[in-house]
Amino acid sequence: MAEHRTKVLILGSGPAGLTAAIYAARANLAPIVVAGMQPGGQMTITTDVENYPGFPDVIQGPWLMEQMTKQAEHVGTRFVHDLVTSIDFTKRPYVATGDSGDTFIGDSIIVATGASARWLGIPTEKQFQGFGVSACATCDGFFFRGKEVAVVGGGNTAVEEALYLTNHATKVTLIHRRDSLRAEKMLQQRLFAHPKITVVWDSAVDEVVGKTAPPGVTGIKLRNVKTGAIQDLTVDGLFVAIGHTPNTELFKNVLDMDENGYLITAPDSTATKLDGVFACGDVQDHVYRQAVTAAGTGCMAALEADRFLAAAAHG
Ligand code: NAP
Repeated sequence: MAEHRTKVLILGSGPAGLTAAIYAARANLAPIVVAGMQPGGQMTITTDVENYPGFPDVIQGPWLMEQMTKQAEHVGTRFVHDLVTSIDFTKRPYVATGDSGDTFIGDSIIVATGASARWLGIPTEKQFQGFGVSACATCDGFFFRGKEVAVVGGGNTAVEEALYLTNHATKVTLIHRRDSLRAEKMLQQRLFAHPKITVVWDSAVDEVVGKTAPPGVTGIKLRNVKTGAIQDLTVDGLFVAIGHTPNTELFKNVLDMDENGYLITAPDSTATKLDGVFACGDVQDHVYRQAVTAAGTGCMAALEADRFLAAAAHG
């Protein structure tokens, strides 16, 4: 079991963590990034990226994260593939323990642990996870070639997943609990114009229906939230795209959080209430949640950590 020591310990390797790493490394702080459960973060389970500035042609999310990782490495970041499972916040330097048993000692910590896909919370959804129920169209869409699928949600993710799934499935039904989408207008136009996509409004998924041997989804039961009418829809797969929950389990009762678990930082800052602990990206941003805003706050966190360390060194 190894002990890793650094001035700046960065938890998470999405756009926020990697941008923090690039800035911290260029400030000669030799940061360590603990990559976490999903190296590269949520961008690695997306496909086309059209709104990250600097790329006039469509780029791929995983590719962008590879580039950021290489850039962070080139300027002096060390990556460790581990998942931090506990942190002693009682004194500085802070000591974190990884799933591997390794210890990470940081004079400062940048929390960039991001957010994870949210589930509907119905029992049958869990039962068929991996057998037709998924939260990642780009990961699992391929398995639905020539089949019919449904996507639940009304945000950008749901619309993008529905559009993506038309590459594989013969029919895609988008199910939304209201009568209008919150996805951006350009995506909505593409969705409504697509011949393979149908939208079911004002509806909730009450149950995933399937068979046990071999396990697989055969349909879903929908309930119209306005009329109460029940509708059976035959599908081979259900993609859940209803937003995200911040990954803040580690910081419960230590750092301030809002009612949804997002970390609270000082206004116009990434500073948490603990000295030398900064938070950036989706873990503290429930409003914008874009790769580019995550990168922006990652930059802020590194600059603030640098200032904090300089001030601490001068007593
Ligand atoms: P989101 O914008 O929070 O949308 C979640 C959707 O799921 C909403 O339509 C919501 O319905 C619905 N929903 C939430 N809980 C539900 C439940 N229990 N049952 C049924 N429906 C439920 O989440 P997102 O689409 O994952 O996007 C997250 C962020 O990433 C956003 O800021 C988005 O702009 C960004 N993003 C951007 C891009 C892009 O720019 N290309 C791509 C993907 C994501 P209501 O509308 O009724 O609340």
